[in-house]
Amino acid sequence: MRCSSGKIQYDSQQLAEDALIDQHIYKGFAAHEGPQNVYECRDCGYWHMTSKNAERLPRLQEMQDSGEMRKKQQASHWERRF
Ligand SMILES: [Zn+2]
Repeated sequence: MRCSSGKIQYDSQQLAEDALIDQHIYKGFAAHEGPQNVYECRDCGYWHMTSKNAERLPRLQEMQDSGEMRKKQQASHWERRF
């Protein structure tokens, strides 16, 4: 069943969080750009990403604070050049 929100559906919070982190890595988002957190949808019961008015996902915040996100983004950028 597709969701009326038109958003991508994830089976679990874990999968949605992983996908969110991946997007930040591969798309090279700045901290405030792109999806910020995940939520369980009342319409379809699956999980979606959200960008607006969301508190930042703690896992994402930690990766940004520690510099891990920047390292992963740079590694990803480097890999794509070859
Ligand atoms: Zn939904």
